[in-house]
Amino acid sequence: MNRLIRVALDVPVPRLFDYRCDDVAAVIGARVLVPFGRQRLIGLIVAQPETSDVPENKLRHTLSVLDREALLQQADLKLLEFASDYYVHPLGAVVMATLPAALRRISIRSKSPGAWTLTEEGKALREDALPPRARAQRRLLGLLREQAVLPHTAITAAGTATGQALKVFIAEGWVTATEAPPGEVPVAPPPGIAPQLTPDQASAVEAITAALGRYQSLLLLGITGSGKTEVYLHAMAIALSRGHQVLLLVPEIALTPQLESLVIARFPEVMVSTLHSGLADGERAERWQAARSGQARIVLGTRLSVFTPLPDLGLIIVDEEHDSSFKQGEGFRYSARDLAVVRASQANVPIVLGSATPALETYRNALDGRYQLLPLKNRIQAALPAIHCVDLRQQKAEDGLSPTLIGAIRERIARHEQSMVFINRRGYAPVLICGSCGWMSDCERCSAKLVLHLRDRRLRCHHCGHDSAVPTACPDCGDADLAPVGQGTQRVEEALIRHFPQARILRIDRDTTRPKDAWPAMRERIRERDVDILVGTQILAKGHDFPHLNLVGVVNADSMLYSNDFRASERLYALLTQVAGRAGRGNLPGMVLVQTQFPDHPLYAALRDQDFDAFARSQLTERQQAGFPPYVHQALLRAEARDLKTALGFLEQAARSAEGLNSGVAVFDPVPANMMRRAGRERAQLLVQTPSRGALRSFLNAWRPLLAEGESTPARWSLDVDPLDF
Ligand code: ADP
Ligand code: ZN
Ligand code: ZN
Repeated sequence: MNRLIRVALDVPVPRLFDYRCDDVAAVIGARVLVPFGRQRLIGLIVAQPETSDVPENKLRHTLSVLDREALLQQADLKLLEFASDYYVHPLGAVVMATLPAALRRISIRSKSPGAWTLTEEGKALREDALPPRARAQRRLLGLLREQAVLPHTAITAAGTATGQALKVFIAEGWVTATEAPPGEVPVAPPPGIAPQLTPDQASAVEAITAALGRYQSLLLLGITGSGKTEVYLHAMAIALSRGHQVLLLVPEIALTPQLESLVIARFPEVMVSTLHSGLADGERAERWQAARSGQARIVLGTRLSVFTPLPDLGLIIVDEEHDSSFKQGEGFRYSARDLAVVRASQANVPIVLGSATPALETYRNALDGRYQLLPLKNRIQAALPAIHCVDLRQQKAEDGLSPTLIGAIRERIARHEQSMVFINRRGYAPVLICGSCGWMSDCERCSAKLVLHLRDRRLRCHHCGHDSAVPTACPDCGDADLAPVGQGTQRVEEALIRHFPQARILRIDRDTTRPKDAWPAMRERIRERDVDILVGTQILAKGHDFPHLNLVGVVNADSMLYSNDFRASERLYALLTQVAGRAGRGNLPGMVLVQTQFPDHPLYAALRDQDFDAFARSQLTERQQAGFPPYVHQALLRAEARDLKTALGFLEQAARSAEGLNSGVAVFDPVPANMMRRAGRERAQLLVQTPSRGALRSFLNAWRPLLAEGESTPARWSLDVDPLDF
């Protein structure tokens, strides 16, 4: 017996490696331990070839097979292969990046079995034989009696006390380990707590249901509070009742707890695996295994969970599909939203993309009829918030706050309602400037300004982490006339305290929410009406439901209006729509005040009318005329080095090698990146684009090996397909 296996390994070489393996357990999708040079590496079997290009005497033997069954099925591998090809990233690196970390380590032994069951002794155990205070033990006994074969994940889910109780049970010989139960039986449709759907919601659910069993992308377009979540839950109920697993992708870990409790409350019988980056490795691996085995019927997760193996996958939902956190920003730079669509089409299942402000790429697909558009036109409870511009040419803002905004906050305080002031920058002021010589607080290692944090008297770089004391005099001319310019959250907070000394003001930004559990506690205070004014950054924009919040003021929107990034308008519109969505839930209609120098700008006009369609169409027309995505497909070759010349030199060589390929793909000149220096390294980039996605793919696959030839250059490089940041 002398079989061959082809193994994906996490090494930066875009190829697979062949080994001999005599173990019959070596099936495609199982992990193996193999020798690699002088190391031992864990890899995944992706093929069992008949022959190898490696000479017979060079073929090495597998050290051991680590799984008794395949971790990944053909369908899972197919998605990974697509991703590797599309993002021009080595398959081994892709495979290993998407496996839970605990399964990538050699030391891993499955410590906990799939499930537990009571021994004879355990069955005979009487509840009053347990110590009176041992509540967790009692609960565990109850669980084991309810469910003869209790999955280990159910114990993990019940909390640490139950885990402790399990140890006691093991020591006493009351439980024994057993195999995990086979896939759960399909569960019943939702119990009575689901509200009656509106006609818009009902037709959306109907369209999704009609698509079960085949591939179809559906765009659920509805402003905050229009009932998208409710549509997801109903569609999920139907998919579950037909025996499908559901994959629900969400952008941020900060939001998952709310949605998680909603899902668990709605489907109390169903095992839900929540997957996000905040999990411990062991926990993540367990939940992943529960999904893979078919035990967990719902996977609720962030970006990476798009790769979770799901044997009975029947429906994919991507909430806030426009959110940029679906795109991985380094290494394997994939878009989870785009891969979710690919996965749906490979698996022949429908995918629902939900948003108030879909990505223009997505919206164009809906306009062209490739995606089915499901509009939710109205808010369920409160009316849409009224959006007004405050014309800063007519009135002056002091410390960022206009008299109109101050007046509106005062009214809300008198009525015991909450207000929120949104500003896109943390710290006190974005820069410190010398009044005599014009010195500015530049970061020495980045093309960026040091932000003044007055509270702790520091100057900080938000890009590289540089942190220094605030100088008492100008480092250049010695003058003491140093002044903070512009606004950050701290400065606005201070101004609010001056205007409203009696008010309870809460600042919410990365600095105040850093301590673990700080943010949930703050959210609780807001919901309990223990706060009058919230001042904060993006964190506040995302789908939080604050029922007493009635006024939103936006302080520095203009700073995002003019930018050389062609996606700036799209992002600003989405951000402001999301921020506006915080106002007026419960039964109060809300008000939004956007302070601006340019109240007539078309973006603000569309925002006031809350007319996403008009905004999107005008943007798409501009993009088409200018030759920007989604009308062309782009890839960005990024390089960084100690000095700019090296980075540019690498890119120039790359551009020359592209010429030889004669591909019809436009190759632009290498240029310094928008942020040319970061953390002491110089960055440059080279853009390639073409209207044909197919042409881009074949070009990139031919180009990449040529880039690798230059790997001896001192430049670090990476390819970003469909880049979002420039
Ligand atoms: P979105 O996800 O679009 O922001 P939600 O689904 O969270 O909107 O709905 C907003 C609010 O309206 C929630 O409090 C939800 O419970 C409620 N809701 C949604 N659909 C209905 C309905 N058909 N009847 C009554 N209340 C509903
Ligand atoms: Zn000076
Ligand atoms: Zn810096």
